[in-house]
Amino acid sequence: MSLALYVHVPFCASRCPYCDFATAPATSRLRSRYLAALAREVREQGEAMGRPAVGTLYVGGGTPSLLEPDEVGALGAALAGAFDVRLEEATVEANPATLDRARLEAWVALGVTRLSLGAQSLSPRGLRALGRTHQPGDVAPAVAAARSAGLAVSLDLIFGWPGQTAGLWHADLDAALALRPDHLSCYPLELVLEPEEATASWPGAGWSAVERWRRAAAASQPDEDAVAQMYAAAEAALGAAGYRHYEIANWARRGSECRHNLTYWRNGEWLGVGAGAHSHLSGVRSRRPAALPAYLAAVERGAPRLADAASDDAVDGAILALRLDEGLDLVAYAHRFGERHARRVDAALRSVEPYGLVLRDDGRVRLTARGRLLANEVFVRLIPDAAADADAAPGPSVLAVS
Ligand code: SF4
Repeated sequence: MSLALYVHVPFCASRCPYCDFATAPATSRLRSRYLAALAREVREQGEAMGRPAVGTLYVGGGTPSLLEPDEVGALGAALAGAFDVRLEEATVEANPATLDRARLEAWVALGVTRLSLGAQSLSPRGLRALGRTHQPGDVAPAVAAARSAGLAVSLDLIFGWPGQTAGLWHADLDAALALRPDHLSCYPLELVLEPEEATASWPGAGWSAVERWRRAAAASQPDEDAVAQMYAAAEAALGAAGYRHYEIANWARRGSECRHNLTYWRNGEWLGVGAGAHSHLSGVRSRRPAALPAYLAAVERGAPRLADAASDDAVDGAILALRLDEGLDLVAYAHRFGERHARRVDAALRSVEPYGLVLRDDGRVRLTARGRLLANEVFVRLIPDAAADADAAPGPSVLAVS
């Protein structure tokens, strides 16, 4: 069986104030040091795993489309040297403003088949509200360029941004559908207000400025009920346009589901390389440090991957399966994780059945439309320590779609 490979590229042209990823400016010095570390990690992982076959690839970030064509070529050579690359699907994430023909051709030469475009909004007001630097007019040419290169296109949209109304969200959905993407991902804007180190690599973009932006943005975000209605509006509009809602935040034309991401949601095996990249191999989750200096230091001194001590494969397996429309097959789950875990998960899911959050059908348990809106209320009951604190009836409008 072939491996799913994730490659992380942490660079961005600027820092979006709502973003929680540990990103870094794309200076040539940082890029060259990072790509050398990445190539080393790729080589060492390929050797350690006996040059396994890679069937799907996902290059995410950050903004991987910022890499220069020669850097993309070097990454492709590193991957081909370390793995038996037989790509059935390969995705690269792109910013609509940083995609030119030479870069696109370099990604196609690497084997990319899908472009995931961070449109986020198609209105000037939405992009301004999110602090994005691209323009709505950048999106259609990027889609056309990807299509002419033979790539499938996925669009990312964000809803619940400051000042957004139901009408503005419908306008974004209509504008996105007019571009006829193969796949769409729609996420609510979530603003973390606690200080963190995500801005550490950005000179002049300290946490206090980000925190001020977030507090002001949070004060003018639509309330939870309005955001829940926006999610329901996306389900209705995308369903009517022929897209299948196959995962809580993802819609696709039939056959255009992201195979790589399905490996995550089906709790399969994948290797992640690069800063902050997670892996799941032989039932064990591990990761690399997310902050760039810590990642570079770890790879340059040959440090092992960090064990992800907080994860529990049986819990993760149940939660991830419930994110998918195909739901959780309790018999298969019992075979994989044992009767004890299956009984516990079954009891937890029965406890939310009276609230209309899950339904059983054909040996599977699935979230209902209401369950997708209140997914965190279901998921928390599957976590043994948290379940004891979550025995009250599920409350209203707790949206969990990311
Ligand atoms: S482009 Fe994406 S990864 Fe980069 S700062 Fe903005 S939201 Fe974060």
